Amino acid sequence: MNIHEYQAKELFDRFQVPSPKGQVASTPEEAAEAARQFAGSKLVIKAQVHAGGRGKGHFKNGFKGGVHLIDSPEQAAEFAAKMLNETLVTVQTGESGRLVRKVMIAEAVDITHEYYLAILMDRASCRPVIVASTEGGMNIEDVAHGSPEKIFRQAVHPLLGLQPYEVRKVTAALGLSGDLAKQFSKLLANLYKLFLECDCSMLEINPLVTTPDGRVLALDAKFGFDDNALYRHPEIVAMRDKEEEDPREVAASEYDLNYIGLDGNIACLVNGAGLAMATMDVIKHFGGEPANFLDVGGGASKEQVTAAFKIILGDPKVKGIMINIFGGIMDCNIIAEGVIAAAKETGLPIPLVVRLEGNNVEAGKAALKASGINITTAATMAEAAEKIVALVN
Ligand code: GDP
Ligand code: MG
Repeated sequence: MNIHEYQAKELFDRFQVPSPKGQVASTPEEAAEAARQFAGSKLVIKAQVHAGGRGKGHFKNGFKGGVHLIDSPEQAAEFAAKMLNETLVTVQTGESGRLVRKVMIAEAVDITHEYYLAILMDRASCRPVIVASTEGGMNIEDVAHGSPEKIFRQAVHPLLGLQPYEVRKVTAALGLSGDLAKQFSKLLANLYKLFLECDCSMLEINPLVTTPDGRVLALDAKFGFDDNALYRHPEIVAMRDKEEEDPREVAASEYDLNYIGLDGNIACLVNGAGLAMATMDVIKHFGGEPANFLDVGGGASKEQVTAAFKIILGDPKVKGIMINIFGGIMDCNIIAEGVIAAAKETGLPIPLVVRLEGNNVEAGKAALKASGINITTAATMAEAAEKIVALVN
């Protein structure tokens, strides 16, 4: 799960990570009102979408940039009107862009230097890793590509926690000294605490800035949370913005289905994550492209299977469906009933290939046959994949 920058600021405040004050707005009037609250200081208006690269992005209406320095409530309203309910395209949104539903008005600061700072869960070392660079403000992938020596990494032992000497190493890598080093050390320790306590998977500040009046501030924020730990954080779940998520995945999460949308046109409905991965592989092997990863779980109910089938059919890219079930715990007949119920409700406008095996398979096959829906059956996984690829093409 991700959150918006204006929401990240709440977490920064809670964990004493210094960042400029900001206020969210969804209309030009609210933007002007927010700007009035910060009267006397320079201001910045920023589009709020779950994607970075806003500063260098452009709107489909031709307006350039999702981040602007402004200096009055009138200007706040004027810029908000150009950004709100418009589609912002950045390097991270892809061509289709993102609809901007909210903007943030924040106190602008003068910048001496822009740094990059992130903490992420590194799967290779199985540890949180701090990533820091003096080359902030730009795309970190470009820095990694063009001057990898400018990216500093510090792994942290998950049980020992962040050690003072590790903080000093990161501080030195950024070339900070004196009072700035002191402020940065405190900021980094608090940020690490935030990362752990909120079960983040990724936390990125780009840029972290130093100012002419000697402050260190987080000027941007991108957060990712470990979905499996969200049950421990109702206050973070409350920040979820479903409008920023893939609607197919939102629907799937309501039914506790493990669904990940992909770009292909062959949908798959499978029980078990390993079998789902293998199914995608075998579809690719026969020259097809999977439209999704979908694991209905070992003990799915008829309602879940029906919901899964409807989510698949609701995706206009899907041109065929492959069901691949190995009933170990799963009762094949429940899958059959779920599929029949969904097919009766929605009609079945596209080819469906079913491979069922295992627990109560005879009843499942009989139910499918008796239902009269147009199904192609297959005895093996390979046969099913080959058939669906042929039918779709
Ligand atoms: P992003 O483009 O989505 O990463 O949005 P950022 O919040 O990082 O803003 C992009 C750039 O705008 C930053 O790298 C800064 O150079 C600039 N910027 C953002 N806020 C301020 C500010 O308060 N003052 C100044 N001078 N520049 C800012
Ligand atoms: Mg940024």
